[in-house]
Amino acid sequence: MLSYPKRKIGENSLEETVASPLLASLKKQKYHLIGKHSAVKRCKWLYESIVNDRPCYKQKFYGIQSHRCIQMTPSLYYCTQQCLFCWRAQSGDMQVTWDEMRNPNRDKPEEIVEGCFKAQKKILSGYKGNEKTNWRKFEEAQRPKQVAISLTGEPTLYEPLGDLISQFHQKDLTTFLVTNGTLPDKLSRLSHEPSQLYVSLCAPNEKVYKKICRPQFPSAWAKLNETLDLLESFRCPTAVRMTMVKDHNMKLIDQYAKLVEKANPTYIEAKAYMHIGFSNLRLGFDRMPMHHEVKKFADQLAEKTGYRVINEAPESRVVLLSRIAKPIQLGKN
Ligand code: SF4
Ligand code: SF4
Repeated sequence: MLSYPKRKIGENSLEETVASPLLASLKKQKYHLIGKHSAVKRCKWLYESIVNDRPCYKQKFYGIQSHRCIQMTPSLYYCTQQCLFCWRAQSGDMQVTWDEMRNPNRDKPEEIVEGCFKAQKKILSGYKGNEKTNWRKFEEAQRPKQVAISLTGEPTLYEPLGDLISQFHQKDLTTFLVTNGTLPDKLSRLSHEPSQLYVSLCAPNEKVYKKICRPQFPSAWAKLNETLDLLESFRCPTAVRMTMVKDHNMKLIDQYAKLVEKANPTYIEAKAYMHIGFSNLRLGFDRMPMHHEVKKFADQLAEKTGYRVINEAPESRVVLLSRIAKPIQLGKN
C-alpha cells in the first residue's frame, strides 16, 4: 500500500494547495476542475452514446440525450455524509484531511456554467480521432441540452444553487439535481427548481443509515426525513434514489415502504452500487449486487408501496418504479 505524507487543508480550498496526491488522483480519474470547488467529469455514457450508440438508462427512462449531457458538481470535495459507496474523495483518503461541511462558495454561477461548457468541449475534442465516432451525435454534443448536478459532493452546500440551475435553464438545458436530503432548509429555499429532483435514500432506518451513509452531524436522519416530507411541495418530477449495497441495505422493505409513502415521489430508482472511484477504498467488489438482486428488491418494494416497476436497464443494474403510467420525457422539449 502506498503511503502519503499527512496534510491538513485549512482556510484554502484543496485546489489552492500544491499538487496533493488527492488532486493528482482526481486528475488521473479525468476530473476537469473548475474554479475552486466545482468539476466536470466525462460520464461513461456520453462516450458510449457517441462511440457505441449505447445511451444511458436516463435516456431510456426520461428521454434526455446522453451525448448532450454534462455531468458536474459545484461541491466537489464537500458533503454532509461519508457514504461507504461514494466515488468521492473523502477527508482522510490518501492522508489528506479537510472540513467537508464547508464549501467555500467562492465561484459565481456564471463562472461555473462557463467552466462546464469549456470542460465539456475539451472532453468532446478527444473523440475527433476516434473512427467509431458518430459524427451527427458529435455535432449535437457541441450544444449540450442536459446537466446532471450529481457527480460527487452535496450540491446544496453551494449557496447560489438555485441561480446555477436557473442559468443552465436560461441556456436551454434541462437539469437533474441529486441531493442527499440532509439540508432541507436549503432545499426549501431553492430559488429555482431543477427539471427533476432526486433525493438519495439508501437506508430503511437510522441504524443502517449511520452505518452506510456515515452522516457528519447528529440530526442528519431527522433532516433527511424532513426532506422526504418536503418532496411533495416541488412542482417538478421527483425521484427517490436507492443505491443498493449487498449485505448492507437490501432488507427491511416494509421500512423503506413507509419512507416512500411519506415522500410520495413520482419515481423510485433502485440501483446497484458500482465499485468505482474512491469507493474502492471502502467496499469490496463483491458488494455490488447483480441486476436480478436489484430487481427482486424492486419487485418487493412495488408490492409494498403500490408503485409499478415500469422499466429497467440491466447494463446499469437499475430498476425504475413509478406512480405514473409513463415517465415524463424531459428531453422532448
Ligand atoms: S444523465 Fe447521468 S448517466 Fe446519463 S449521460 Fe448524464 S450523467 Fe451520464
Ligand atoms: S451523499 Fe453522495 S457525495 Fe455525499 S458521501 Fe454520499 S454518495 Fe458521496
